[in-house]
Amino acid sequence: MINYLFREQNWKSQLSDLITDPYELLTTLNLSTDQLLSGALLASEQFKLRVPRAFVRKMVPNDPFDPLLLQVLPHHLELEDHINFVADPLGEEEATQLPGVLHKYESRFLLTLTGACAIHCRYCFRRHFPYQDNLPKSKDWAHIKSYIESQAKINEVILSGGDPLTLSNSKFKLWLERIESIPQIKMLRIHSRVPVVIPERLDHELITMLKQSRLNIVLVIHANHANELDDFTIAALAQLSATQITVLNQSVLLKGINDSAATIEALSYRLFEAKVLPYYLHVLDKVKGAAHFDLEPQVINQLYTDVLATLPGYLVPKLVREIAGEKNKTPLYGEIH
Ligand SMILES: *Cc1c(COP(=O)(O)O)cnc(C)c1O
Ligand code: SF4
Repeated sequence: MINYLFREQNWKSQLSDLITDPYELLTTLNLSTDQLLSGALLASEQFKLRVPRAFVRKMVPNDPFDPLLLQVLPHHLELEDHINFVADPLGEEEATQLPGVLHKYESRFLLTLTGACAIHCRYCFRRHFPYQDNLPKSKDWAHIKSYIESQAKINEVILSGGDPLTLSNSKFKLWLERIESIPQIKMLRIHSRVPVVIPERLDHELITMLKQSRLNIVLVIHANHANELDDFTIAALAQLSATQITVLNQSVLLKGINDSAATIEALSYRLFEAKVLPYYLHVLDKVKGAAHFDLEPQVINQLYTDVLATLPGYLVPKLVREIAGEKNKTPLYGEIH
């Protein structure tokens, strides 16, 4: 293991040195900036380009269709209006109970501690989410605690996006201890894209904190393509297999990025090299600005049929859609129309 790379200051400096200028991104990859139509720049103003340099190094230079580049490069098509593609496709604003608390599923709820992400994914269903008005402060903890205690069925807290692993270890620890102090909570889930885009974030202090917790910890990472998992990322994730932390991956099916059975299969095999199991394969949420990533139902059905025929069952992600108002994610195989 290349220990020195896991130092805390390394990931912090990476987080404060993101690429945010589309021209810089394209020139770094030796690509022409001619494709930056004014629409793309406007799209970047609405939802800013944000990408760690380490993630850019995983992209293939000279390839304008690189599957990692397409996930982050603002595109003029984002400005097109499409019927059915809306700002809040999952009705999250309505489901917000208290600052940062989104409780839709019986036994578990989302707690958003920060609006910041290390990377901006163009397909993100929270790209229009009004985070700033909705973040819990220390003084809100007492209310969150009483809310949990009033809901006897809650046994799991899910830290979700914005990305909880953009928090410093000390802030993270503060919230971890608060959650640990409630006996009915048995599980802590951390949904984060940071271990994939800045693997150094899995530093010693964080891993120790998670290892020592009384909570049963699940880390759900987010990778959409095998190229996101270079050897260094695999090594960073594989450290966790020596702990009791369960590591899963979720992906979103995206046109032009991972819309072939071979791509999904390669991703599953690559994840398993780090002992990470595929969890969900999400059909795109219909968020305004992401219609150009949407796939035809027949394409999805054929892809999933092929994936099922090829992969061992434990490497097949569950194909799901989230439907606003439903009490769980909806399994889809054979039912997409
Ligand atoms: C996805 C999601 C969860 C977690 O659901 P699991 O099926 O347990 O992964 C919880 N709350 C909301 C609002 C979600 O969207
Ligand atoms: S919440 Fe997740 S999907 Fe959305 S921009 Fe942040 S990292 Fe990307």
